[in-house]
Amino acid sequence: MTIEKIRKDYELIDLFCNLAEVPSPSMHEEKVAEWIKNYCDKNEISCKLDDFGNVVINIPATDQTKAPMMLSAHMDVIGDDSPVKTYLDENDNIHAEGRTLGGDDKAGVANALLFAKELAHSDMKHGGLEVMFTRDEENNLSGIRNANLKNFNSKYVLVLDSDTLGQCEISGASYTLAKFKVHSFKGGHSGIDIGDKKRANAAKLIADLISDLPQGVFYEEDGHVVTSCNIGGISAGDIKVTNIINTDAQANYSIRSSSRKKEEELKSKMTLTVDEFNIKNKEIAKATVEFEEHLPPFEKVDDDYIPTIFEAAANKVGVKPDITSFHAGAETHIYANKTNANNEKFIPYLIGLATVCNMHSKNEYLEYKTILKGHELLTELFKEYNK
Ligand SMILES: [Zn+2]
Repeated sequence: MTIEKIRKDYELIDLFCNLAEVPSPSMHEEKVAEWIKNYCDKNEISCKLDDFGNVVINIPATDQTKAPMMLSAHMDVIGDDSPVKTYLDENDNIHAEGRTLGGDDKAGVANALLFAKELAHSDMKHGGLEVMFTRDEENNLSGIRNANLKNFNSKYVLVLDSDTLGQCEISGASYTLAKFKVHSFKGGHSGIDIGDKKRANAAKLIADLISDLPQGVFYEEDGHVVTSCNIGGISAGDIKVTNIINTDAQANYSIRSSSRKKEEELKSKMTLTVDEFNIKNKEIAKATVEFEEHLPPFEKVDDDYIPTIFEAAANKVGVKPDITSFHAGAETHIYANKTNANNEKFIPYLIGLATVCNMHSKNEYLEYKTILKGHELLTELFKEYNK
Protein backbone atom coordinates (compact mmCIF):
# COMPACT_ATOMS: atom_id res chain seq x y z
CA MET A 1 0.00 0.00 0.00
CA THR A 2 1.20 3.50 -0.81
CA ILE A 3 0.11 6.97 0.17
CA GLU A 4 -0.98 7.60 -3.44
CA LYS A 5 -3.27 4.57 -3.35
CA ILE A 6 -5.05 5.50 -0.10
CA ARG A 7 -5.35 9.12 -1.22
CA LYS A 8 -7.16 7.85 -4.28
CA ASP A 9 -9.34 5.46 -2.32
CA TYR A 10 -10.41 7.82 0.45
CA GLU A 11 -11.41 11.44 -0.01
CA LEU A 12 -10.72 12.13 3.69
CA ILE A 13 -7.12 10.89 3.46
CA ASP A 14 -6.52 13.00 0.38
CA LEU A 15 -8.02 16.03 2.11
CA PHE A 16 -5.89 15.39 5.19
CA CYS A 17 -2.69 15.09 3.12
CA ASN A 18 -3.52 18.25 1.15
CA LEU A 19 -3.96 20.16 4.41
CA ALA A 20 -0.84 18.63 5.99
CA GLU A 21 1.21 19.60 2.92
CA VAL A 22 0.58 23.30 3.53
CA PRO A 23 3.02 24.12 6.36
CA SER A 24 1.34 26.25 9.04
CA PRO A 25 3.51 27.12 12.03
CA SER A 26 1.72 29.09 14.74
CA MET A 27 0.85 32.62 13.54
CA HIS A 28 1.74 31.62 9.96
CA GLU A 29 -1.51 29.89 9.05
CA GLU A 30 -2.46 32.25 6.18
CA LYS A 31 -1.70 29.72 3.45
CA VAL A 32 -3.70 26.90 4.96
CA ALA A 33 -6.57 29.29 5.75
CA GLU A 34 -6.55 30.31 2.08
CA TRP A 35 -6.49 26.66 1.02
CA ILE A 36 -9.58 25.98 3.16
CA LYS A 37 -11.35 29.09 1.82
CA ASN A 38 -10.73 27.94 -1.77
CA TYR A 39 -11.94 24.44 -0.95
CA CYS A 40 -15.15 25.90 0.49
CA ASP A 41 -15.68 28.24 -2.47
CA LYS A 42 -15.22 25.35 -4.88
CA ASN A 43 -17.72 23.26 -2.91
CA GLU A 44 -20.21 26.11 -2.37
CA ILE A 45 -19.87 26.20 1.40
CA SER A 46 -20.20 29.51 3.25
CA CYS A 47 -16.75 30.32 4.64
CA LYS A 48 -15.28 33.52 6.08
CA LEU A 49 -12.10 34.64 7.76
CA ASP A 50 -12.69 36.62 10.96
CA ASP A 51 -10.66 39.73 11.89
CA PHE A 52 -7.99 37.58 13.50
CA GLY A 53 -7.65 35.19 10.57
CA ASN A 54 -9.59 32.27 12.04
CA VAL A 55 -11.74 30.43 9.50
CA VAL A 56 -15.49 30.24 10.14
CA ILE A 57 -17.83 27.93 8.21
CA ASN A 58 -21.58 27.92 8.48
CA ILE A 59 -23.95 25.27 7.17
CA PRO A 60 -27.46 26.68 7.73
CA ALA A 61 -30.15 24.62 9.44
CA THR A 62 -32.60 22.71 7.29
CA ASP A 63 -34.93 22.25 10.26
CA GLN A 64 -35.46 25.26 12.55
CA THR A 65 -36.82 23.11 15.36
CA LYS A 66 -33.42 21.49 15.89
CA ALA A 67 -30.37 23.00 17.59
CA PRO A 68 -27.06 23.74 15.85
CA MET A 69 -23.77 22.09 16.77
CA MET A 70 -20.26 23.48 16.56
CA LEU A 71 -16.98 21.83 15.55
CA SER A 72 -13.61 23.40 16.31
CA ALA A 73 -10.04 22.50 15.34
CA HIS A 74 -6.77 24.40 15.09
CA MET A 75 -4.90 25.14 11.87
CA ASP A 76 -1.42 25.72 13.32
CA VAL A 77 1.06 22.92 13.85
CA ILE A 78 4.34 22.49 15.70
CA GLY A 79 7.13 22.68 13.13
CA ASP A 80 8.64 25.15 10.68
CA ASP A 81 7.92 26.27 7.12
CA SER A 82 9.80 23.37 5.48
CA PRO A 83 7.89 21.25 2.91
CA VAL A 84 5.71 18.43 4.21
CA LYS A 85 6.08 15.26 2.18
CA THR A 86 3.73 12.53 3.36
CA TYR A 87 4.39 8.81 3.12
CA LEU A 88 2.82 5.60 4.38
CA ASP A 89 4.83 3.08 6.42
CA GLU A 90 4.35 -0.71 6.50
CA ASN A 91 1.98 -0.39 9.48
CA ASP A 92 -0.51 1.90 7.70
CA ASN A 93 0.71 5.02 9.46
CA ILE A 94 1.04 8.35 7.66
CA HIS A 95 4.28 10.25 8.41
CA ALA A 96 6.05 13.31 7.00
CA GLU A 97 9.64 13.03 5.78
CA GLY A 98 12.01 14.44 8.40
CA ARG A 99 9.54 16.68 10.20
CA THR A 100 6.26 16.88 12.12
CA LEU A 101 3.26 15.68 10.15
CA GLY A 102 0.82 18.16 11.65
CA GLY A 103 -1.74 15.45 12.38
CA ASP A 104 -2.27 17.66 15.43
CA ASP A 105 -4.57 19.17 14.41
CA LYS A 106 -4.96 18.79 10.64
CA ALA A 107 -6.70 15.48 11.38
CA GLY A 108 -9.40 17.47 13.19
CA VAL A 109 -9.54 20.11 10.44
CA ALA A 110 -9.85 17.48 7.69
CA ASN A 111 -12.59 15.61 9.52
CA ALA A 112 -14.65 18.75 10.17
CA LEU A 113 -14.12 20.13 6.65
CA LEU A 114 -15.18 16.96 4.87
CA PHE A 115 -18.16 16.65 7.19
CA ALA A 116 -19.22 20.24 6.41
CA LYS A 117 -18.99 19.49 2.70
CA GLU A 118 -21.00 16.28 3.02
CA LEU A 119 -23.66 17.96 5.13
CA ALA A 120 -23.97 20.94 2.78
CA HIS A 121 -24.83 18.56 -0.05
CA SER A 122 -27.04 16.13 1.85
CA ASP A 123 -30.81 16.26 2.28
CA MET A 124 -30.62 15.58 6.01
CA LYS A 125 -32.91 17.52 8.38
CA HIS A 126 -30.59 19.21 10.88
CA GLY A 127 -30.25 22.26 13.11
CA GLY A 128 -27.13 23.65 11.43
CA LEU A 129 -23.39 23.23 11.72
CA GLU A 130 -20.92 25.90 12.75
CA VAL A 131 -17.22 25.25 12.25
CA MET A 132 -14.28 27.18 13.63
CA PHE A 133 -10.67 26.67 12.52
CA THR A 134 -8.38 28.65 14.79
CA ARG A 135 -4.85 30.02 14.61
CA ASP A 136 -2.10 29.82 17.20
CA GLU A 137 -3.45 27.10 19.47
CA GLU A 138 -0.03 25.64 20.17
CA ASN A 139 1.59 28.84 21.44
CA ASN A 140 -0.82 31.23 23.06
CA LEU A 141 -4.35 30.13 22.13
CA SER A 142 -4.59 33.62 20.66
CA GLY A 143 -6.85 32.45 17.80
CA ILE A 144 -9.63 31.26 20.07
CA ARG A 145 -9.03 34.05 22.59
CA ASN A 146 -9.59 36.63 19.81
CA ALA A 147 -12.48 34.86 18.09
CA ASN A 148 -15.84 36.57 18.35
CA LEU A 149 -17.78 33.72 19.92
CA LYS A 150 -20.86 35.92 20.21
CA ASN A 151 -21.42 35.19 16.50
CA PHE A 152 -22.14 31.52 17.19
CA ASN A 153 -25.49 30.01 18.05
CA SER A 154 -24.41 26.53 19.12
CA LYS A 155 -24.24 25.58 22.77
CA TYR A 156 -22.31 22.34 22.33
CA VAL A 157 -18.82 22.54 20.84
CA LEU A 158 -16.79 19.52 19.82
CA VAL A 159 -13.13 20.51 19.88
CA LEU A 160 -11.55 17.89 17.61
CA ASP A 161 -8.09 17.98 19.16
CA SER A 162 -7.68 14.90 21.35
CA ASP A 163 -4.97 12.48 20.20
CA THR A 164 -6.86 9.19 20.55
CA LEU A 165 -9.84 7.95 18.56
CA GLY A 166 -12.87 7.53 20.81
CA GLN A 167 -11.88 10.03 23.49
CA CYS A 168 -14.42 12.46 24.87
CA GLU A 169 -12.87 14.66 27.54
CA ILE A 170 -15.42 16.31 29.79
CA SER A 171 -13.09 18.50 31.85
CA GLY A 172 -9.56 19.83 31.79
CA ALA A 173 -7.18 21.66 34.08
CA SER A 174 -6.50 25.37 34.41
CA TYR A 175 -3.02 26.82 34.37
CA THR A 176 -2.10 29.35 37.03
CA LEU A 177 1.38 30.64 37.69
CA ALA A 178 2.25 31.16 41.38
CA LYS A 179 5.24 33.42 42.03
CA PHE A 180 6.80 33.34 45.48
CA LYS A 181 9.32 36.01 46.43
CA VAL A 182 11.45 36.33 49.56
CA HIS A 183 13.22 39.56 50.42
CA SER A 184 15.54 39.58 53.38
CA PHE A 185 15.99 43.07 54.81
CA LYS A 186 19.73 42.98 55.22
CA GLY A 187 22.35 41.12 53.23
CA GLY A 188 26.06 41.50 53.63
CA HIS A 189 29.43 39.82 53.53
CA SER A 190 29.44 36.11 54.17
CA GLY A 191 32.45 36.45 56.48
CA ILE A 192 32.33 39.82 58.20
CA ASP A 193 28.54 39.95 58.68
CA ILE A 194 27.73 36.31 59.26
CA GLY A 195 27.46 36.66 63.03
CA ASP A 196 24.69 39.29 62.79
CA LYS A 197 21.40 37.49 63.52
CA LYS A 198 19.43 40.21 61.65
CA ARG A 199 21.06 39.24 58.37
CA ALA A 200 19.27 36.25 56.89
CA ASN A 201 20.10 34.64 53.57
CA ALA A 202 17.13 34.69 51.20
CA ALA A 203 18.33 31.51 49.48
CA LYS A 204 18.02 29.59 52.75
CA LEU A 205 14.71 31.28 53.61
CA ILE A 206 13.09 30.36 50.32
CA ALA A 207 14.19 26.76 50.87
CA ASP A 208 12.37 26.86 54.23
CA LEU A 209 9.28 28.30 52.60
CA ILE A 210 9.30 25.70 49.80
CA SER A 211 9.60 22.86 52.26
CA ASP A 212 6.32 24.03 53.83
CA LEU A 213 4.48 24.37 50.48
CA PRO A 214 2.61 21.48 48.84
CA GLN A 215 4.15 19.74 45.83
CA GLY A 216 2.50 17.32 43.38
CA VAL A 217 -1.08 16.07 43.61
CA PHE A 218 -3.23 18.25 45.86
CA TYR A 219 -6.61 16.64 45.16
CA GLU A 220 -7.79 13.64 43.16
CA GLU A 221 -11.12 11.98 42.43
CA ASP A 222 -11.66 8.39 41.23
CA GLY A 223 -7.97 8.01 40.45
CA HIS A 224 -7.91 11.18 38.30
CA VAL A 225 -5.82 14.16 39.32
CA VAL A 226 -8.09 17.19 39.78
CA THR A 227 -5.69 19.70 41.32
CA SER A 228 -1.90 19.73 41.40
CA CYS A 229 1.03 22.07 41.80
CA ASN A 230 4.61 21.80 40.66
CA ILE A 231 7.69 23.88 41.33
CA GLY A 232 9.32 24.98 38.09
CA GLY A 233 12.47 26.56 39.44
CA ILE A 234 14.14 28.47 42.21
CA SER A 235 16.37 31.46 41.72
CA ALA A 236 18.54 33.01 44.38
CA GLY A 237 22.03 34.49 44.34
CA ASP A 238 24.66 33.24 41.95
CA ILE A 239 25.95 29.67 42.01
CA LYS A 240 29.53 30.94 41.50
CA VAL A 241 29.43 33.57 44.23
CA THR A 242 29.48 32.36 47.83
CA ASN A 243 30.68 35.40 49.73
CA ILE A 244 27.36 37.24 49.74
CA ILE A 245 24.42 36.89 52.11
CA ASN A 246 21.64 36.94 49.50
CA THR A 247 18.74 39.35 49.90
CA ASP A 248 16.38 38.10 47.19
CA ALA A 249 15.01 34.77 46.06
CA GLN A 250 12.12 33.58 43.95
CA ALA A 251 10.34 30.31 43.21
CA ASN A 252 7.70 29.75 40.53
CA TYR A 253 5.01 27.07 40.60
CA SER A 254 2.42 25.89 38.13
CA ILE A 255 -1.04 25.16 39.47
CA ARG A 256 -3.37 22.98 37.39
CA SER A 257 -6.95 22.28 38.36
CA SER A 258 -10.18 21.23 36.70
CA SER A 259 -12.11 22.49 39.75
CA ARG A 260 -12.20 26.17 40.63
CA LYS A 261 -13.14 25.33 44.22
CA LYS A 262 -10.13 23.05 44.74
CA GLU A 263 -7.83 25.56 43.07
CA GLU A 264 -9.03 28.24 45.50
CA GLU A 265 -8.35 25.85 48.39
CA LEU A 266 -4.80 25.27 47.18
CA LYS A 267 -4.19 28.99 46.71
CA SER A 268 -5.51 29.69 50.22
CA LYS A 269 -3.20 27.07 51.63
CA MET A 270 -0.23 28.62 49.83
CA THR A 271 -1.17 32.10 51.03
CA LEU A 272 -1.52 30.85 54.59
CA THR A 273 1.96 29.28 54.40
CA VAL A 274 3.37 32.66 53.30
CA ASP A 275 1.54 34.40 56.19
CA GLU A 276 3.00 31.94 58.69
CA PHE A 277 6.47 32.44 57.20
CA ASN A 278 6.08 36.21 57.61
CA ILE A 279 5.05 35.91 61.25
CA LYS A 280 8.01 33.68 62.02
CA ASN A 281 10.53 35.85 60.14
CA LYS A 282 9.05 39.30 60.69
CA GLU A 283 12.33 40.80 61.99
CA ILE A 284 14.46 39.62 59.09
CA ALA A 285 12.50 39.08 55.88
CA LYS A 286 9.21 39.25 54.02
CA ALA A 287 7.69 36.77 51.59
CA THR A 288 4.96 37.44 49.02
CA VAL A 289 2.94 35.31 46.62
CA GLU A 290 1.21 36.37 43.42
CA PHE A 291 -1.13 34.26 41.31
CA GLU A 292 -1.52 34.80 37.57
CA GLU A 293 -4.28 32.90 35.78
CA HIS A 294 -3.06 31.99 32.31
CA LEU A 295 -5.85 29.59 31.44
CA PRO A 296 -9.17 29.15 33.25
CA PRO A 297 -10.37 25.65 34.16
CA PHE A 298 -12.62 23.65 31.84
CA GLU A 299 -15.05 22.41 34.48
CA LYS A 300 -17.36 19.45 34.24
CA VAL A 301 -21.03 20.40 33.78
CA ASP A 302 -24.22 18.74 35.00
CA ASP A 303 -25.29 17.75 31.51
CA ASP A 304 -24.34 14.39 30.10
CA TYR A 305 -26.32 14.60 26.85
CA ILE A 306 -23.28 14.75 24.54
CA PRO A 307 -21.22 12.08 26.38
CA THR A 308 -24.29 9.82 26.29
CA ILE A 309 -24.90 10.14 22.56
CA PHE A 310 -21.14 10.06 21.91
CA GLU A 311 -20.91 6.71 23.69
CA ALA A 312 -23.86 5.32 21.75
CA ALA A 313 -22.48 6.55 18.40
CA ALA A 314 -19.01 5.16 19.16
CA ASN A 315 -20.42 1.75 20.05
CA LYS A 316 -22.52 1.76 16.91
CA VAL A 317 -19.52 2.30 14.61
CA GLY A 318 -17.26 -0.07 16.57
CA VAL A 319 -15.06 2.46 18.37
CA LYS A 320 -14.33 2.06 22.08
CA PRO A 321 -15.60 5.21 23.80
CA ASP A 322 -13.43 6.74 26.51
CA ILE A 323 -15.25 9.43 28.49
CA THR A 324 -12.57 11.01 30.64
CA SER A 325 -10.77 14.13 31.93
CA PHE A 326 -7.35 15.55 31.17
CA HIS A 327 -4.89 17.39 33.33
CA ALA A 328 -3.77 20.01 30.81
CA GLY A 329 -5.02 22.88 28.67
CA ALA A 330 -6.80 23.21 25.33
CA GLU A 331 -9.25 25.48 23.51
CA THR A 332 -12.09 23.83 25.44
CA HIS A 333 -11.06 25.97 28.41
CA ILE A 334 -11.73 29.21 26.54
CA TYR A 335 -15.09 28.01 25.21
CA ALA A 336 -16.15 26.79 28.66
CA ASN A 337 -15.74 30.30 30.06
CA LYS A 338 -17.52 32.20 27.26
CA THR A 339 -21.12 32.60 26.09
CA ASN A 340 -22.72 32.31 22.65
CA ALA A 341 -25.08 34.60 20.71
CA ASN A 342 -27.96 33.59 22.99
CA ASN A 343 -25.96 34.30 26.15
CA GLU A 344 -25.73 30.60 26.98
CA LYS A 345 -22.46 29.25 28.30
CA PHE A 346 -20.74 27.04 25.77
CA ILE A 347 -20.47 23.37 26.70
CA PRO A 348 -17.31 22.10 25.02
CA TYR A 349 -15.80 18.61 24.77
CA LEU A 350 -12.32 17.61 23.67
CA ILE A 351 -12.95 14.86 21.13
CA GLY A 352 -10.59 12.35 19.50
CA LEU A 353 -11.58 11.46 15.92
CA ALA A 354 -8.17 10.01 14.99
CA THR A 355 -5.15 8.51 16.71
CA VAL A 356 -2.07 10.67 16.30
CA CYS A 357 1.12 9.39 17.95
CA ASN A 358 4.32 11.19 19.01
CA MET A 359 2.70 14.57 18.53
CA HIS A 360 5.01 17.60 18.31
CA SER A 361 7.96 15.42 17.21
CA LYS A 362 9.56 14.32 13.95
CA ASN A 363 8.20 10.85 14.63
CA GLU A 364 4.61 12.06 14.63
CA TYR A 365 2.27 9.81 12.68
CA LEU A 366 -1.41 9.28 12.00
CA GLU A 367 -2.94 5.79 11.93
CA TYR A 368 -4.93 6.34 8.78
CA LYS A 369 -7.69 3.83 9.53
CA THR A 370 -8.50 5.66 12.77
CA ILE A 371 -9.36 8.91 10.99
CA LEU A 372 -11.73 7.02 8.68
CA LYS A 373 -13.42 5.51 11.74
CA GLY A 374 -13.46 8.92 13.38
CA HIS A 375 -15.38 10.28 10.43
CA GLU A 376 -17.98 7.55 10.77
CA LEU A 377 -18.23 8.38 14.46
CA LEU A 378 -18.75 12.10 13.78
CA THR A 379 -21.40 11.34 11.16
CA GLU A 380 -23.24 8.98 13.51
CA LEU A 381 -23.02 11.43 16.42
CA PHE A 382 -24.45 14.25 14.33
CA LYS A 383 -27.27 12.00 13.15
CA GLU A 384 -28.06 11.06 16.75
CA TYR A 385 -27.91 14.75 17.79
CA ASN A 386 -30.45 15.67 15.13
CA LYS A 387 -32.83 12.81 15.78
ZN1 LIG B 1 -3.63 20.19 19.06
